[in-house]
Amino acid sequence: MTLWLLGTHLDRTADYLDEHDRVLLIESTAFAERRPYHPHKLTLVFAAMRRFREDLRHRGVTVDYRRAETFGDALDDHFEAHPEDDLTMPRPAAHGAADRLRELVDGRGGRLSFVPNPTFLLTPDEFDGWAERRETSDSATYRLEDFYRWMRRRSGVLMDGDSPEAGDWNYDEQNRETPPDDWEPPAPPLFEPDETTREVASWVDSAFETFVGVDEAAPFRWPVTREQSLEALERFVDARFAEFGPYQDAMLEGEWAMSHSLLSASINLGLLRPTEVIERAERAYEAGDASINSVEGFVRQVLGWREFMRHVYRRSMPAMADANQLGQTEALPPAYWTGETEMTCLSEAVGHVRKRGYAHHIERLMVLSNFALVYGADPDELNEWFHQGFVDAFHWVTTPNVVGMGSFATDALSSKPYASSGSYVNRMSDYCSSCPYAVSRDTGEGACPFNSLYWTFLREHEETLRGTGRMGLMYSHVDDKNEDEWAALEERAETVRQMARNGTL
Ligand code: FAD
Repeated sequence: MTLWLLGTHLDRTADYLDEHDRVLLIESTAFAERRPYHPHKLTLVFAAMRRFREDLRHRGVTVDYRRAETFGDALDDHFEAHPEDDLTMPRPAAHGAADRLRELVDGRGGRLSFVPNPTFLLTPDEFDGWAERRETSDSATYRLEDFYRWMRRRSGVLMDGDSPEAGDWNYDEQNRETPPDDWEPPAPPLFEPDETTREVASWVDSAFETFVGVDEAAPFRWPVTREQSLEALERFVDARFAEFGPYQDAMLEGEWAMSHSLLSASINLGLLRPTEVIERAERAYEAGDASINSVEGFVRQVLGWREFMRHVYRRSMPAMADANQLGQTEALPPAYWTGETEMTCLSEAVGHVRKRGYAHHIERLMVLSNFALVYGADPDELNEWFHQGFVDAFHWVTTPNVVGMGSFATDALSSKPYASSGSYVNRMSDYCSSCPYAVSRDTGEGACPFNSLYWTFLREHEETLRGTGRMGLMYSHVDDKNEDEWAALEERAETVRQMARNGTL
């Protein structure tokens, strides 16, 4: 009996670890060749797997660590050594993965069964139970708010009896502040790589085509072990949590981390459990170390959004990956790869991705995917770009976030697009003050590219968007514009598109 673990199953606390004769881990080069991933992503996954192997061996677990071109090659060797073996694996989150892996095992005379995946709070049956009972079951759209309240009640997290702790379910209105001019975010936790990580990093550099060259990225500093991930959690709680809430949506030039937790990669690899992260947040609240708006904002992300995205993806695939309800087909501008653009917001956000395989949520949503949305980019290509560029990216999480939330390619997740003009970026950041484009102008040379793209986007997709929830105010502004204004907006949008296409934006 073998426990087969993928690089996203690195949970040392799981109870199934001691119930098998051995653990099988496969380091597949074909995985790394599938797309040009960010070098930090490849280093992170492979270094974390190798450190996990050492951890398990240290505690007496037998580990077969196989390095091979493909999973199939490694399984050939495994079944030669252990014919007709029974394999168990935590259920993978990627659509179709369970079937594909089971076929690989069946074809070699073995059996593969699945156990609940501890990197998620809910099993598929539990989520499906909620989804089938939900009030809006006649609609195609899943509502985070309903799900989140159900999760709070079910788990008792931040609950005072039947009521939400401190009286409200949501403190979003307190979480839209921008920091004062003299504010400096606390230094993010950065981990000096050990010998194993350094070895993996130089192998990645020499063996694979990557999103950016290793010398273009910042030095690798992500946590690769459970100890480091726990330290990152503690340092978030100690130094950043109090300001996480108020500055959750803020962006500052030169600041890639702000007060975000930087924990997504550790959670997605299984190095931290979502339950322990949530419990730690609750303890910080009880100890008075963080206010309710920070703690609720954080719990909403992990207990709500993360879980919600995983299961909406599961239930919406395979259609979600190909969805394109707005029929958007533009290729992504080259600036998404080079970071070379005069637009400060885009150059900052792409720069963060190029350097570290990370940008925080508001840069992902309101800069990187918002620009692609109003520009008319193909959602599938945008999804691929996110999947390549980020250390925490996996198909189950990029697809609902990028195709569903960011591109509004399906209405499964929201009833209106996250589209905005430059004014949102201006309100939530200091980017516009150093930008050569004028956020105050919609048309003519030097006008903020977001503005003309935004208005022409609304007009072009009027048929789909006008009637959708909460778009009334925006369409009242559309209605106020006269034909001369539209002509100038169309002209500016076309110039912006040309500049974006030929890399001169
Ligand atoms: P924090 O801001 O500190 O939030 C805490 C935690 O909440 C995160 O670590 C994460 O585990 C969870 N979380 C928050 N929002 C989401 C969400 N929408 N979906 C899933 N989990 C969430 N998250 C990924 O893990 N991988 C991705 O590839 C990814 N791609 C995204 C692409 C787009 C276009 C958007 C809009 C969001 C994406 N997200 C992704 C969700 C979210 O932006 C990241 O989880 C978060 O920015 C990671 O940084 P952090 O750990 O500092 O998060």
